[in-house]
Amino acid sequence: MFERIRRTHSPQATRVGWSGQSRVLRVGRSLALWFSLLATSLAAPVRAVEDEYAAARTRMVSEQLRAHWRGITHPGVLQAMATVPRHEFVPLPLRRYAYDDHPLPIGHAQTISQPYVVAFMTEKLDPKPADRVLEIGTGSGYQAAILSGLVKEVFSIEIVEPLARRAESDLARLGYRNVRVRYGDGYQGWPEAAPFDAIIVTCAPDHVPQPLVEQLRDGGRMIIPVGELDDQQLFLLRKRGAKLERESVLPVRFVPMTRPGGKPAP
Ligand code: SAH
Repeated sequence: MFERIRRTHSPQATRVGWSGQSRVLRVGRSLALWFSLLATSLAAPVRAVEDEYAAARTRMVSEQLRAHWRGITHPGVLQAMATVPRHEFVPLPLRRYAYDDHPLPIGHAQTISQPYVVAFMTEKLDPKPADRVLEIGTGSGYQAAILSGLVKEVFSIEIVEPLARRAESDLARLGYRNVRVRYGDGYQGWPEAAPFDAIIVTCAPDHVPQPLVEQLRDGGRMIIPVGELDDQQLFLLRKRGAKLERESVLPVRFVPMTRPGGKPAP
């Protein structure tokens, strides 16, 4: 019985099966071809734009960073600046200016720092592969992305919640997996993750926050702008036991460090 049914039905089934399958295959193949042509024609302009950004990035490194009048020489820093897609951290309408020699607005009255300032601060911080680094002022997340490839872990704090959320999702989307972002007041640091080998502050208080000094390990480095808007100095600090060595390295202009409630740091 079973044999008969199989014999009776199987040729028919096979024929229908085959011709059905080949029609499906033909349609499938032409759809695949059509989609791959569409994908190629859509991918071409995207690739061209990405190539333009890559070319702008290369120019930025040679003209704004390596140039003798700027003098960035740290190979890891130059490599990071040549690799991290800065345009991905800049609002869409401003992307064409992402590699220009100045800061840009990122919303909420904040800015992404000038490429040179990012490179300069990172170089002065002297990042090492085993370092755990704290950043105050995540902003766009760009500085954290630059540090990501140079150190073991980056902890970054941002006081404007939508900026913290956006930076966190951009960093995850772009694959910077060793960066943790926290929404909060960076003046207090990140005590649970302390001590840090290095601390980078990208907003300006009018004095060096004591909690940050306490969360720096002995021998650790901190780079921090201090002062009022039109009279700020970037300081490189080194903790030596109870002492804090202090070197003034560059006049700068950062947004002020604010405190909860929007007030500048006391
Ligand atoms: N490093 C950023 C640029 C920082 S702009 C980048 O790569 O894009 C300075 C940032 O510091 C702003 O986003 C501002 O909201 C933030 N900020 C100001 N006061 C702060 C505080 N007390 N704690 C944490 N972040 C603060």
